[in-house]
Amino acid sequence: MRKLQMVDLGAQYQKIKKDIDDSIQAVIDSTAFINGPEVKNLQNELESYLNVKHVIPCGNGTDALQIALMALDLKPGDEVITADFTFAATVEVIHLLGLKSVLVDVDYDTFLMDSERLKSAITPNTKAIIPVHLFGQCANMDEINQIAKEHNLYVVEDTAQAIGADFNGEKAGTIGTIGTTSFFPSKNLGCYGDGGAIFTNDDKLAHKMRGIVNHGMYQRYYHDEIGVNSRLDSVQASILRVKLPLLNSYNNARRQAADFYDAAFANHPSILIPTRNAKSTHVFHQYTLRITNGKRDELRTFLEGKGIPAMIYYPVPLRKQKAYDTGNYNDAEFPNTDRLINEVISLPMHTELDKEQLEFIKQSVLEFFSSYSPE
Ligand SMILES: *Cc1c(COP(=O)(O)O)cnc(C)c1O
Repeated sequence: MRKLQMVDLGAQYQKIKKDIDDSIQAVIDSTAFINGPEVKNLQNELESYLNVKHVIPCGNGTDALQIALMALDLKPGDEVITADFTFAATVEVIHLLGLKSVLVDVDYDTFLMDSERLKSAITPNTKAIIPVHLFGQCANMDEINQIAKEHNLYVVEDTAQAIGADFNGEKAGTIGTIGTTSFFPSKNLGCYGDGGAIFTNDDKLAHKMRGIVNHGMYQRYYHDEIGVNSRLDSVQASILRVKLPLLNSYNNARRQAADFYDAAFANHPSILIPTRNAKSTHVFHQYTLRITNGKRDELRTFLEGKGIPAMIYYPVPLRKQKAYDTGNYNDAEFPNTDRLINEVISLPMHTELDKEQLEFIKQSVLEFFSSYSPE
């Protein structure tokens, strides 16, 4: 059996090696390393894949979030609401810009922002909401957009984990005011270094963000505003151009592995499988179980002993991270996040999992629990 990994980028590369190698070599031969035609071509191809008016490539998914917030002209102290249960980048950029983060609980079944908690977190200072399409499916964008409309708020969709997912037939990241994504190697559409992109249908915001990514320059050496240096390089763009046409088949392969896991664990008394949101397709950036008998950490150790990696995404709620702990939160408002951090475990999930590997993972998980189930 091939060695199990959380993500098997090596096996994926072997299948597309010639195209990848040729595309990298072509960029080197062209010497158009920054802002070359490959970046523009990728931009056009992403615009058509996502059916969105503007794609702005940038350096990484964290910059994409920061640039999106910079474009919204928020003032220090303005509040941005996001989920307590997500990767830290989402909240980090809020603080970097001198804004105030307001964290809300997630739904226990989908791991996604809870719309009721969102509503009650809105104050007169709230200016934006960042729903995170965590683990590969979309937060409830109907409800979130409706709430945003009622309160005149911007919506920035963090689509780093859900590129290619659909919500009511629209692509994740194109439903709110702005969408952002990451091309970090392990993401569903990953390059071989850092990369990211921003999406919007708003012409004005797109123009502004194209300036911000490049030092606030709209005309060479005329700086109209404070920007950043956040560019996608041409080598990464050329790799992404090879992989974008494969994204749907990659997401299907992930879904097939998830279907296998679902069937294996659906009726187990100590395991809850991830709930799929009816309006969203799921592209399974992660396949995350909840272990309800308190033995999650022991399961992880057991699996590691068998050569099966498993990860805890995420072990600490953002509101309890040293960097973001304001002491202003009431734990009673976060029952789901506080439960999830003790129950979640993510199994290997990637495009190259074969039947033998999946079967071994299934048998190993079931073997662990057989020693605990009452006979
Ligand atoms: C990966 C990720 C990011 C950050 O992307 P980078 O390209 O690593 O900067 C932001 N938000 C979420 C939810 C992510 O998973």
